[in-house]
Amino acid sequence: MERARDGMNDAHIIIIGTGWAGISAAHSLLEQGVPPHLITMLERAPHPGGRAFSFADEKRGLTLDNGQHVLLGCCDQFARLLSQLDIRDAYRLQPLLDIPVFCDGTWGRLSSKRLAGALHLLPGLLTYAHLSPLERVRLLRVAPSILRPNVAALDSISFGAWLRQNGQTDRAIGRLWDLVGTAVLNGHADEVSAALAAESFRMGVVSGWQQARLGLFTRPLGDLATEAITKLQGLGVEILFNTAVTELQIRNARVTGVRLRGGDMFAAETVVAAVPHDALLRMLPSRWRDDDDFAKLQSLSWSPILNAFVLYDRPVMRQDVFASMELGGMFVFNRAALLGLSQYAGRWLSVSISAAHSHRGSEADELARKVQSALAAALPEARAAQIQTCKLVWQPHATFLARPGSWSARANPTTSVQGLLVAGDWTNTGWPASLEGAVRSGAAAVEARLEPKLSLTS
Ligand SMILES: Cc1cc2nc3c(=O)[nH]c(=O)nc-3n(C[C@H](O)[C@H](O)[C@H](O)COP(=O)(O)OP(=O)(O)OC[C@H]3O[C@@H](n4cnc5c(N)ncnc54)[C@H](O)[C@@H]3O)c2cc1C
Repeated sequence: MERARDGMNDAHIIIIGTGWAGISAAHSLLEQGVPPHLITMLERAPHPGGRAFSFADEKRGLTLDNGQHVLLGCCDQFARLLSQLDIRDAYRLQPLLDIPVFCDGTWGRLSSKRLAGALHLLPGLLTYAHLSPLERVRLLRVAPSILRPNVAALDSISFGAWLRQNGQTDRAIGRLWDLVGTAVLNGHADEVSAALAAESFRMGVVSGWQQARLGLFTRPLGDLATEAITKLQGLGVEILFNTAVTELQIRNARVTGVRLRGGDMFAAETVVAAVPHDALLRMLPSRWRDDDDFAKLQSLSWSPILNAFVLYDRPVMRQDVFASMELGGMFVFNRAALLGLSQYAGRWLSVSISAAHSHRGSEADELARKVQSALAAALPEARAAQIQTCKLVWQPHATFLARPGSWSARANPTTSVQGLLVAGDWTNTGWPASLEGAVRSGAAAVEARLEPKLSLTS
């Protein structure tokens, strides 16, 4: 790391983090015509992908993701980035939204039709088996507010409170709004901001049938990040793994570079910090932590996601995906079938439980038993089948929790420190913490480089 020790290369742009925000920032810089040799990405971990990574289950030779991820058809910037990096066959979109939902021993279905605008949901909602006819009709009362959410007014109340104000019963909240909302926002209806929830439903579910289609990954997440990083490297971007930034160097309210673990300095006139909000706070010199742009980040907290990877001795699941009200709401994926591993199709499942705080205190054995019985409740063939492996993967810091008030706590890409840009799923993209939000944030940070003090949502 000679150059780092010399500290001479101040035209350099450093991107801290090789998650999807960092990858997107690097790609956007290249699109802006920045020469690749001026871009360096510094990554603490030995691999790229950040919170969307994979690892091997050595015993079975299977690749696990840190958590099952899905997309929606509205995630157009993530799709665009993949296509521009020529990353193929990453996921497939359902032709139309179609998610079987298991609740109290019976099946319903969240589905969509090829009808204009929000009408695509109407036939499915009016026949949704888990709600009474009156509850289904009452769903329509929320539609006008979701089609044009008043974000400023809604951010102070919870999604749950707002739904009740709009005539939704607790049953309707649990069996529909919370089931979907928790998967999207990683927080339950009574925990999350009505503004972000309404905006997410507007963008992802209500705006049209194309946007609402579910995207199911057909390759491990880690492979996608590795391929993206390899492409960037091939274009000439320098990427250093196992390289943690410990402090941002700031002089006269201007970023001058970064300090690395071990003490090396790396000079740069622009730094894109594409790291989680708490990592950014840790690397700021203490005098800057109380600055308005950064102090508000202290109010953002984390929400966990629990994944269980379950391998049966025989096929137990035929569909690609279903949702269940068991365990407070969970989504189940036919992981092997999605990845094209025919020998495990229907046998190797991935169970995702968002906002999983209530399970945090449970012992692993007890949790595994609960997951198994929740699967057996919905899948008759699972009742007689033997489980060969059940691996639990906890991600305590999966996403920030979008509490009421969090809309204004999210940071804009430019900061009070000249040359310091921030990116990440927690920044003010108007999107929930997601791959799409991360990609948008990286592009927005790079855009803001040329347009100081840009507000993403203004
Ligand atoms: C279990 C789980 C399930 C999820 N499900 C979905 C889903 O279904 N759909 C969806 O869209 N999103 C989902 N998400 C969220 C999605 O993964 C994140 O929103 C997205 O990956 C965040 O990307 P990012 O680049 O903003 O941050 P990160 O991915 O966190 O990237 C930040 C990078 O910065 C690095 N870094 C941190 N500190 C330093 C330092 N000091 N020096 C150098 N490098 C540093 C980190 O190692 C990391 O690589 C899920 C997340 C989890 C954990």
